[in-house]
Amino acid sequence: MLRFRWSGNWRGLWPVAALAVAQALILMLVLGSDPLRAETTLAKDARIGGDAERTRFVADLSKKVSYRVFTLADPYRVIVDMPDVSFQMPAGLGRKGKGLVSAYRYGLIAPGKSRIVIDLKAPVLVDKAFVMKAKDGNPVRLVIDMAKIDRKTFLANLAKQPAAEPKAKTSKVASVPLPDAAPPVVRRRRGSGGKPIVVIDPGHGGVDPGAISRSGVKEKDVVFDFAKMLRNEINKRGRLKPIMTREIDVYVPLRERVAFARRNGASLFISIHADSVPGRFSRKASGATVYTLSERASDSEARALAAKENRSDIIAGVELPSKSDEVTNILIDLAQRETKNLSITFAGTLLSGLKGETPLRKKSHRYAGFRVLKAPDVPSVLVELGYISNPSDAKRLQSQKWREEMAVSVARAVESYFSKRMARVPF
Ligand code: ZN
Repeated sequence: MLRFRWSGNWRGLWPVAALAVAQALILMLVLGSDPLRAETTLAKDARIGGDAERTRFVADLSKKVSYRVFTLADPYRVIVDMPDVSFQMPAGLGRKGKGLVSAYRYGLIAPGKSRIVIDLKAPVLVDKAFVMKAKDGNPVRLVIDMAKIDRKTFLANLAKQPAAEPKAKTSKVASVPLPDAAPPVVRRRRGSGGKPIVVIDPGHGGVDPGAISRSGVKEKDVVFDFAKMLRNEINKRGRLKPIMTREIDVYVPLRERVAFARRNGASLFISIHADSVPGRFSRKASGATVYTLSERASDSEARALAAKENRSDIIAGVELPSKSDEVTNILIDLAQRETKNLSITFAGTLLSGLKGETPLRKKSHRYAGFRVLKAPDVPSVLVELGYISNPSDAKRLQSQKWREEMAVSVARAVESYFSKRMARVPF
């Protein structure tokens, strides 16, 4: 009797079950990313073995992955490109090298494209590169074997290498219009509601971590969090349209950041960074600095910092056409004096806004040849929020409260700059 009744009940449940399955299917279609996410390759660990003659690099992966290995010179690097890999490596990994490797880093080089950059102490031959199956409790492993060779052979091999990307380079870097390809003068565009556009540029990202504190705090993360907060703050005020040069943890070439501002007809460009100095100076150097562009650095420290920040493309393992600087320099010569003056005006407004809010360096406005400030027609500043190498600065940089207050001060300064500038035209 009971059995009979149950079977009747089951039959009655069929439409419900079918509906549940259909709902699940629809949900999967709508979400889409869930089944895909399960397929993302994870990189969980890596290590180096060997000596100054032969060195092996091994990365543990969750599954087999396609890859491409190539080398770059000056400085010597081995680059491993893979499709979307999620790096979940232990903190601080890659900072110490061994054998022929001085350090390595990893991250997104473009959306959906991952990269490992291995810095070398000497020129090498990539002897073997292969992916080993999971075996005997070991995960899938990507193995790169390197052997020391002389510079001449290294360069000869480099020339024989198939082009990193098919000749015309479909890579993001090469497809970026050079500044000279852009219109000679930026047409100021307005965002929705006719608001002037402010570009916020969180420094570094992806394969380029920027400065790293002793405890492993990365500049790229600190500046990204701050940039988002600043964007929210400017948005909340409602009079300007803030946009960011990167929305995720991805590397963006320096030139692309400049091109992005020009393409979008920006009225102001703010690059956000956090500096670091090594060793015994780390406790002395603290506070925020605002930089504007000048071919002549205001002091040797500013020059050194610009050189360091300009290395971003090298750090990401990107080769740039050597002419790029020349082109930019010509443009700078042609640049409207107005852009420089406006950059300086904004730097002043910003610094007076920050006074009392956060410690500033002694010479708080400095000049240097930062590549990211080279748009000839978009007033641009680079803000070093503080030193992540300095313990009290690092603490401040990670404090939610400080970030919020700082974002308010910067947003206020931005508004005040626009109000003065557009005194007659409401913005
Ligand atoms: Zn930086």
